[in-house]
Amino acid sequence: MTGRAGAAALDAADPLAPFRERFVLGDEPRLYLDGNSLGRLPLATRARLAAAVGEWGERLVTGWHEWIELPRRVGDRLARGVLGAGEGEVLVADSTTVDLYKLCGALVAMRDGALLVPRDEFPTDRYVLQALAEQHGRELRLLDADPVDGPGVDDVEAALAGGDVALLVLSHVNYRSGALADLPAITALARRRGVPVLWDLCHSAGVVPVDLRAHGVELAVGCTYKYLNAGPGAPAFLYVARELQPRLRSPIAGWFAQRDQFAMGHPHVPADGVDRFLAGTPPILLLAAVDESAALVAEAGVEAAREKSIALTELVVELHDAWLEPLGFTLGTPRDPARRGSHVSLRHPDAWRICRALIERADVVPDFRAPDSIRLGVPPLYTRFVDVWDALDRLRALVSAGEHELVRRDSSRVT
Ligand SMILES: *Cc1c(COP(=O)(O)O)cnc(C)c1O
Repeated sequence: MTGRAGAAALDAADPLAPFRERFVLGDEPRLYLDGNSLGRLPLATRARLAAAVGEWGERLVTGWHEWIELPRRVGDRLARGVLGAGEGEVLVADSTTVDLYKLCGALVAMRDGALLVPRDEFPTDRYVLQALAEQHGRELRLLDADPVDGPGVDDVEAALAGGDVALLVLSHVNYRSGALADLPAITALARRRGVPVLWDLCHSAGVVPVDLRAHGVELAVGCTYKYLNAGPGAPAFLYVARELQPRLRSPIAGWFAQRDQFAMGHPHVPADGVDRFLAGTPPILLLAAVDESAALVAEAGVEAAREKSIALTELVVELHDAWLEPLGFTLGTPRDPARRGSHVSLRHPDAWRICRALIERADVVPDFRAPDSIRLGVPPLYTRFVDVWDALDRLRALVSAGEHELVRRDSSRVT
């Protein structure tokens, strides 16, 4: 079994180790394992945000000559360095939820049939589809799958066999289990059946290679504040394959989506290309943060990040088996590293109290997902192998001593 010295040796040999110094740290001895929810602040982003605020103060409205390009420029940078998409296929604006609504709304207007989504999908995705189904008089079809492994190709095949599906929405990495869906195979299958798939990349962008063009992906969205570290409320990205763009119209016909925005003309004519999926004024300050984050992740390389991420989650699984299984934990994440993303879900009947105790008494920050999962996120750009080792060591000590039983039930709203 890997001892602490073994974990330290893995850090010493880690080619990505220097990237840790590129982030704001200084919270030791706290162990932060929740970068899958909100990534750490890169130093370059802190400086860039200060500069962006300065630009606002100095340039005022004249700044718009350059700012207006940012959703596309930052989108192109993400496309190139992180997503494997082409120029003019990615836009950074609005939240994931709004981007999801815009793309799904465009699809529903174009195609008849049911809306298909896993029963276990992230809530906002299910809610958006539920509302669209209600508004358009469509069936919302829920896809059942194994709670640990998530939907496989066979599950999707069975769901599509029923026919009459307008759209499938699916996370690349499941937010609770961390299961990584087989994006190439599911995309290929759906294309053979003529059903568009929208991939939600919130938990994979920046940490799992996605190669959208190479795999023939048509539609995707994802947030930028998890493994892309762009900060709370940073705008999400949306991707529409070039071939599909002329056929889709956003259900939000905002003035930023207008072909000749400043002609202020009547009526609405959608802009050419992916710009037709803009809506209103984009958040320029936080777009600067996404720009810096995309550059940082691209510099490290998503392939290298993936390699280290797998090694980190392997260590979590190894220590879980050795220390935690005897204490009543079960693994809520696939054992095959090729089938999981960059967080590991540990299940325990008393998970909520254990999670609170970890934060309050052991200075380890994971998060809790109902009903019984503790998620340990290990973003590879700033998580060390010794951090994983120490966090699991504190966890086993805490549960062995029964310290979680001292936690009171008056919870905070966010976990
Ligand atoms: C985090 C996350 C979101 C977040 O949506 P926002 O609109 O950015 O709040 C959406 N989908 C999935 C799968 C997520 O993990």
